[in-house]
Amino acid sequence: MNVIYLDNNATTQVAKEVMESMLPYFREYYGNPSSMHTFGGQVGQKIRAAREQVAALIGAIPEEIIFTSCGTESDNSAIRSALATHPDRKHIITSRVEHPAVRALCAQLATQGYRVTELPVDKNGVLDLENLEKSMTPDTAIVSLMWGNNETGVIFPVEEAAKMAQEKGILFHTDAVQAVGKIPINMKNNGIDMLSLSGHKLHAPKGVGVLYIRRGTKYFPFMVGGHQEKERRGGTENVPGIIGLGRACELAAANIQKENNNVKSLRDKLEKELLERIPQSRVNGDTDNRLPNTTNISFEYVEGEAILLLMNELGICASSGSACTSGSLQPSHVLRAMGVPFTMAHGSVRFSLSIYNTEKEIDFVIEKMPGIIERLRGMSPFWNQSCANQ
Ligand code: PLP
Repeated sequence: MNVIYLDNNATTQVAKEVMESMLPYFREYYGNPSSMHTFGGQVGQKIRAAREQVAALIGAIPEEIIFTSCGTESDNSAIRSALATHPDRKHIITSRVEHPAVRALCAQLATQGYRVTELPVDKNGVLDLENLEKSMTPDTAIVSLMWGNNETGVIFPVEEAAKMAQEKGILFHTDAVQAVGKIPINMKNNGIDMLSLSGHKLHAPKGVGVLYIRRGTKYFPFMVGGHQEKERRGGTENVPGIIGLGRACELAAANIQKENNNVKSLRDKLEKELLERIPQSRVNGDTDNRLPNTTNISFEYVEGEAILLLMNELGICASSGSACTSGSLQPSHVLRAMGVPFTMAHGSVRFSLSIYNTEKEIDFVIEKMPGIIERLRGMSPFWNQSCANQ
C-alpha cells in the first residue's frame, strides 16, 4: 500500500540529498572532530561548513549556532540558561499553546519556586501582545513564545514580542521548530535572543537540533563535558546529523518559495474541498497568519482517533488533536486554550504537508475523507441526535 504522508509537523522524510551528504561520515570520515590529526580535523571543517549553512538560512552568523540533539534540548537549554544567568529573577512568561518541550519544563520549574505566566490566545489561536506587555515585570527572566504552532500552524508575532521584551531588558526565546524552513526568518536585528530549531522537521535526520544564541547574550550551558561548541554544549558531535542538517538548511533556503507557493496551494485545495464536501467541519486557527503547510480541521461529532484509524487503512497518515493517551480523553491543550467546542475539538485532524506531496495524493484524500466521516457519523449517537434536533 502506498503511504500518503500528511504528518510532516510530526517528522519529515530525510531528503535524498541530505542522506547522500551524510553517508561518507559513517564509514569513510568517521574521525572525531576534536582530534588533533588531519583525519579528524577534516570532519571539523565540515562541521564549520554546516554551521555556516544553518546560519545562512536564518540570517545569523555561524558563531551564534550551537548544535544540540533536538528541539527539546534547545528549548530546555534556552530557558534554563536565562534562569541561570539571571538568578535574581524568578518569573517566566510563555503561552498556553506551547509545545510540551517548553510547557513541561515550565511546569517543572513552577514546582521549584518559579512563577510561570501562560499567556492566553483567542478563539483563532492568536496572541494579544497587550497581555504580554502587562505581564512583564522586573522579576521576569525570560519570555518564551513559539514562532509557528505545531498543531494549528498559527504564527505568533514573535519579532514584535521580542522588541517589547528587549525594551524592558528581558531575554526573549522562540521555539521556531515548526517555522524554520517553512517561512523566511532573518535574525538580523529582530531582538530575538535565542531560537530553537530541529533537524527532523526540515528533512534532516532525527537527533540533531540547533540553539541560536545572539552574539553577546550571556549563556549558561545545559550540557557540560568536553570543549565542544566552544564549551557551550559538551558531548561528541553527531557529525553525520550535523552535516545533514547543514545540507537540509541549504535545500530549505532554496525551496522556501516552493513551500510558500506549491505546498500552500495544495494545503489550500485540501482545506477548501474538505470544508465544502463535509458538513459541520471547520478550520481551527487563524487562516491568514499560518504556516503554509498546516491545516487543522474539526469534523463535528466524530472522534479524531477513529478518523485516523480509517485514514490509516487507506495509507493516509495525519495526526489528531484529541489524544487518548493515558486514558485521558481530553482534547489537546492547544484546542482547549482556543476554546474550541468539545464536540469539535474531539474530531480534529491535523494535516501537515511537505514539498514531497503531490496533487494526486491530495485528490485521493479529498475523495476519501467524506466517506470516512459519513461512516463514523452514521455510528455516532451524538450526530444522529444532532440531526434529529435540526
Ligand atoms: N517544539 C515544537 C513546536 C515542536 O513541534 C516539536 C516537535 O514536535 C518540538 C519543539 C520538539 O522537537 P524535537 O522532536 O526535535 O525534540
